Amino acid sequence: MSLLAQLTAAIGDGSIEVIDLTAPLSETTPILKLPEPFGNTVNFSLREISRYDERGPAWYWNDIVTGEHTGTHFDAPVHWVTGRDGEDVSQVAPSRLVAPAVVLDVADRVAADPDFLLQIDDVRAWTKANGPLPDGGWLLYRTGWDARSGDQEEFLNADESGSHTPGISAECARWLAEETPIAGLGVETVGTDAGGAPGLDPPFPCHSFLLGAGKYGLTQLRDLDRLPVRGAALIASPLPIVGGSGSPARVLALVEH
Ligand code: MN
Repeated sequence: MSLLAQLTAAIGDGSIEVIDLTAPLSETTPILKLPEPFGNTVNFSLREISRYDERGPAWYWNDIVTGEHTGTHFDAPVHWVTGRDGEDVSQVAPSRLVAPAVVLDVADRVAADPDFLLQIDDVRAWTKANGPLPDGGWLLYRTGWDARSGDQEEFLNADESGSHTPGISAECARWLAEETPIAGLGVETVGTDAGGAPGLDPPFPCHSFLLGAGKYGLTQLRDLDRLPVRGAALIASPLPIVGGSGSPARVLALVEH
């Protein structure tokens, strides 16, 4: 049997499971809220064209209204000023969109501190226990934050001092971008950076360093607890929006049982 026939047969008999890491898209899908004077994206919505009525008697269809960075989505390098000469989302090679993934789980620490920031030593401890980060693959950062994804307020967890959601320290973001072979970082939160990232140096270090290094981001993932620490294959499928800085994406993981 060819490798691909083996793969599809294994999916058919359940020995390889396809796990959907994507948040459903609706008007209530949480979105980022930047403070004044910054611009903001819109909520996802459907605009009905016809529904078996005089506007189209036999068919139902909608226009969609969405931001590039709405729901589970892909950040392309050109999203950030540090990556402004890099790829837009339509230019990302398809072979980069199918890649190995590992899961670094800090949900217990985030439960005690929503502002938790991952440090280089945490990743070093992980690699010591679990082996190297995948060359050309994804580091999936599990924080347990997906449990809040049904509610905008809980998801952004903001007060007068700003949003309190977990992320990665500036030093660790720089190290992941420049010293490790990963292709990108996947998170469960509304963006790859922590809620407190506007106050880090540089601000929004994951965006700044990773996109500046030509790497990618994936946000608002869920069910990462269903993946093994290593061994999953990730399929990320952003739309090829020409000139786009990102795109809503379906993100699937293949897990072998
Ligand atoms: Mn984004």
